[in-house]
Amino acid sequence: MEYRKLPHGREEISVIGLGTSSLAANGEKAGAQAVAYALENGVNYIDMASGEAGAFPAVGEGMAGSRKKVYLQVHFGADYTTGKYGWTTKLEDIKRSIHWQLEQLKTDYIDFGFIHCIDELVDWKSYVEGGALAYIKTLKEQGVVRHVGLSTHTPEVAGLVLDTGILDMLMFSINPGYDFERGGEFAIGSAGQRLELYRRCEREGVGISVMKSFSGGQLLAEKTSPFGRPLTRYQCIQYALDKPGVLTVLPGVRSKEDVQEILGFLKAPPQERDYSMIAGFTPANVDGTCVYCNHCQPCPAGIDVGLVNKYYDLAKAGDILAAAHYRSLEKTASCCLHCGHCESRCPFHVKQETRMGEIAQYFGK
Ligand code: SF4
Ligand code: SF4
Repeated sequence: MEYRKLPHGREEISVIGLGTSSLAANGEKAGAQAVAYALENGVNYIDMASGEAGAFPAVGEGMAGSRKKVYLQVHFGADYTTGKYGWTTKLEDIKRSIHWQLEQLKTDYIDFGFIHCIDELVDWKSYVEGGALAYIKTLKEQGVVRHVGLSTHTPEVAGLVLDTGILDMLMFSINPGYDFERGGEFAIGSAGQRLELYRRCEREGVGISVMKSFSGGQLLAEKTSPFGRPLTRYQCIQYALDKPGVLTVLPGVRSKEDVQEILGFLKAPPQERDYSMIAGFTPANVDGTCVYCNHCQPCPAGIDVGLVNKYYDLAKAGDILAAAHYRSLEKTASCCLHCGHCESRCPFHVKQETRMGEIAQYFGK
């Protein structure tokens, strides 16, 4: 397993986490087995925005004896007390549901307390005015909540909540269909706006956990993929992990077999993760922008082209840490031989040879 560090904390988070939207679909026992198997194999991050109340006892049972090794995203505004999922911004309903969720999970603390699914500015207003945000802050002061997060599909709402400075984590829907303006229920914001949000998160030390990485399965089937052919789960996971700020991807699982399939990503060769086939669909406003995919490797000078470009973009956007990371690389843009290989290989039309010169000049020799 690979882990990425939460910038506002000490937590090392597994790049593959678990989504629990349908965890209890095959019964709570199968769900618990899936969780236990995932934890045994290094997964340590679980999102609890489930479509079913049964996911909570399943996770409680699956992580029994391992609670300290697991980070849970618990949602303030997802109500399961009726036995089914419900969305609310009402303080009393939120309190009742949080109490119920902790009881089912057999825990007394929350690693990541999430402001749940706010997609409209008006809902954010009622969340704040109704006291739900103050409730999360109080639990944080008491040490019950360790970090505050937000789940949303809307860049504008994410920006507004980021302005408050309370977030350590953002749960956002990231996949090439949404980012490339190819439609889908939650394809909100332009490609440029979405990319700017990811860069802002990285710059401000807010980690991103990724939901809907397969666009609800839409990208995986030939009939529904907006790219004319299906993508694989591994391509979608790699795409999300290449975005700035992303710490973990949370595919939904229902069984141990589902977990096994997802964990296969970690051993998959680069060609199975390569998603450059989407390049023909790049929106005009971001055409020629590096997506850090490293399809242009190998570089004869040994430069990690994707990483050098990521640090450059982040440094230009004001990320001081990115500049320091760049300077600690063994091979920087100054090592470029201007052979033109990357530029000829880049399916996203990036003038990479020229860009290497720009990057070297920006950081100095
Ligand atoms: S230059 Fe092109 S191929 Fe290379 S990392 Fe950037 S987008 Fe990918
Ligand atoms: S142009 Fe520079 S960065 Fe690109 S492949 Fe050649 S040496 Fe590597």
